[in-house]
Amino acid sequence: MTESVVWKATDPATGEVFAEIEGTPVEQVPTVYQQAHQSFHAWSTLSLDARVSYLKKLRVHLSSHLDEAVLAIQRSTGKVPTEALTNEVLPVLHMLGYIEKNARKVLGSQPKPTPFFLQGKTSHVEYLARGTVLVISPNNYPFHLAMIPVISALAAGNTVVLKTSETVPYMGRYIEELFYQVGFPDDVLQAVHGDGELGQALIAGHPDYIFFTGSDATGRKIAQAAAEKLIPCTLELGGKDPMIVFADANIPRAVKGAAWGAFTNSGQVCMSVERLFVQAEIFDDFVEQLAAFTSGLVQGRDEDADIGAMTSMQEVRAIERLLQDALDKGATLVTGLPPEEWNFDNGRYLKPMILTDVTLDMDVVHEEAFGPLLVVIPFDNERQVVQLANQSRFGLNASVWSSDLEKAQRIASRLVCGGVLVNDVILTVANPNLPFGGTKDSGIGRYQAEIGLRTFCHEKAVMVDRGRRPREVSWFPYRGKYSSFKRLSHSLFGKFRNWPSLLAAYLKLR
Ligand code: NAD
Repeated sequence: MTESVVWKATDPATGEVFAEIEGTPVEQVPTVYQQAHQSFHAWSTLSLDARVSYLKKLRVHLSSHLDEAVLAIQRSTGKVPTEALTNEVLPVLHMLGYIEKNARKVLGSQPKPTPFFLQGKTSHVEYLARGTVLVISPNNYPFHLAMIPVISALAAGNTVVLKTSETVPYMGRYIEELFYQVGFPDDVLQAVHGDGELGQALIAGHPDYIFFTGSDATGRKIAQAAAEKLIPCTLELGGKDPMIVFADANIPRAVKGAAWGAFTNSGQVCMSVERLFVQAEIFDDFVEQLAAFTSGLVQGRDEDADIGAMTSMQEVRAIERLLQDALDKGATLVTGLPPEEWNFDNGRYLKPMILTDVTLDMDVVHEEAFGPLLVVIPFDNERQVVQLANQSRFGLNASVWSSDLEKAQRIASRLVCGGVLVNDVILTVANPNLPFGGTKDSGIGRYQAEIGLRTFCHEKAVMVDRGRRPREVSWFPYRGKYSSFKRLSHSLFGKFRNWPSLLAAYLKLR
């Protein structure tokens, strides 16, 4: 047995170690799955209403313990309380509400039409739980992005093994305690604690489905390991999202939208605004207003603070590399500090940074900048900006800003991404009725909405015949049937439907 690792939960804003979490040894993985399999039968055969009633209890409990949830998230990530509440807890409450309202409609059996050829039968689709779902979650929204797949998978009748990120080790402990306090049956949700090594062992243990959220580099490793065992998976990966501002946009609103879109959660957001395209005629004025507004944002950890700390030092180093590369190649830092002036004595705070004069040879134009680093690029016309915006290996979210809604929607339709907003940023994810996910290197699959529940099910096609007739027209023997089938095919699918000929052919076949 390997010695178990203890993960220290450190508050990025103060450096205080506020909890120590015992790691799950990889040798324990088979036991974890055994327990998950044992609890699966009872959980998956509960009625949908009974499963949903547990989720309802979770909603009521969580909504009456908001401060506890906010504190757990804040200490783990360094984010400000308002964002912990609105961007982590509220979306989970919304999704719980969505499940309560829609689970029966989405996961109940769906009647389907049966074609003429198959007369006498009825058809429907059933949604069957997959088994044990492995959820692997990232460090930036460690509550939201763990809980949404967990509650969706549970609603569909699966048991869940959750591995939260080792950067925020307290979150797994907090979530397991939450489920314990609500009174979920044993082992329906098990949280395990560890890093990528444990993640690999969990995949090798062969879950029935993997729901992964994290970087595209890790996503590729997960996809490879899953392919080896033919385990289906959802991959929610990174982004390099464009925001396009036309000269006819509501400029004061677009300035505030850009600042929030780029710097909320200190820019540690998969669909944060990373490439801001501003029409050339308003470029200088827009950048000036954006820099002034950004400089007024307050960093800290109290209820009135706007921008929190960086969750991981690794991301700080990655931002430093991108910024230095851009500065070395001639970019201008309009606001924020160059790396040599960064100081983390009073918490891991990075001042928001805006870069102009960027060129295509700079890494910051192409690579995900998982921190408060925004590049602003001028454009001349629609055609050019669509091409620039789509010129990325990522395709998660995007936004188009204009007072001409027809033009904005025309451009929005041409962007290759999983979600797009007109005159707003990011917030498609806040609507549980909308699917969320990426195109290109931003991922595979969707969560939220109907697809986000059905993802965790096998879709089973069912056809029922009352079994009274002696045989079917399509069965053996075929003698004498070919010409009738041919006539039937013509009558049914030819230019005009010929009902008398169709009926005659069918009666002959019977
Ligand atoms: P990460 O890829 O470093 O880690 C994510 C998770 O994967 C962690 O739990 C980690 O322990 C685990 N892991 C690492 N190596 C593994 C392996 N070999 N096998 C199994 N598990 C492994 O990501 P992060 O730094 O925690 O999160 C930031 C990234 O997540 C960014 O790229 C961001 O864009 C992306 N993200 C995407 C979405 C989305 O919905 N598309 C949402 C949030 C974050």
